[in-house]
Amino acid sequence: MKPFLKLIVFSLLLSLSSCIKQSEKSTKPAEAPQDNSIASTNDYTLNEDTFYQYSIWFAFVNKVFDGDLTVEELKKHGDVGLGSFDFLDGELIMLDGIPYRIRENGEISVGQDKDEIVYADAAFFNKEDSFPIEETVKFGDLPSKLDAKKKSPHYFYVYKIHGSFKHIKLGGVPKVKRPFKDGLDVLIPNRPVFEAENISGTLVGFYCPDFIGHINAKGHHFHFISDDKKWGGHVMDFESSLTLEVQFDTKTKYEFDLPKSEEFENVNLSKKFQYN
Ligand SMILES: [Zn+2]
Repeated sequence: MKPFLKLIVFSLLLSLSSCIKQSEKSTKPAEAPQDNSIASTNDYTLNEDTFYQYSIWFAFVNKVFDGDLTVEELKKHGDVGLGSFDFLDGELIMLDGIPYRIRENGEISVGQDKDEIVYADAAFFNKEDSFPIEETVKFGDLPSKLDAKKKSPHYFYVYKIHGSFKHIKLGGVPKVKRPFKDGLDVLIPNRPVFEAENISGTLVGFYCPDFIGHINAKGHHFHFISDDKKWGGHVMDFESSLTLEVQFDTKTKYEFDLPKSEEFENVNLSKKFQYN
């Protein structure tokens, strides 16, 4: 595994009252260095309150499509996650510690330890609370249902949402080759789309506050995998058919690794693109 720069850019250790982290949380002792020195990956263990990210959203938008984070390394940062594999050779969803790769033709496989990732969000999921959404809900209405249960829009949240869907529309990613021509602002609107009816499965989602800026995508971002693990991708739209069971976990620390590559060192971050 290649080493890469570990930059702790900001760590939002907000002194939360115990009402956010109930006794279900077993927090590992933080071993992060106390200064701003560059640490190797092995120098500390990520706290279970941490939202982990690899690369930054606007580098991904601006064609930094050759990452150096391995699946093996990603699994050290969480048991749920989402993102994309190197060269956009598949969307990533990690559930219960298993990282699935969904290629542009819809083929699904389990990512191998040496496979590389270009962008990812990950976390150790510790269910803090859960609630059902008992009515049929459309994807566009989901954020307001989730927002109603957030203690504050200024924290980070991780979701596992299980249920059945009358209809669901997912996006894949088109594999790219060097020289990279288009950024996500062009590729995403033209992404491969998969649709299914009457299917059950799990959404894995991450929420970032508006203040996240260009570092990550603001708001909610969901990937889906079916219960039979044969179908998945980036969630674009759905209509649920039965109760959705929502589990969530508040995160108050945020850490990321930046790609160690000339491409990243020289990227022009001028193109802007957000899902919402
Ligand atoms: Zn996505």
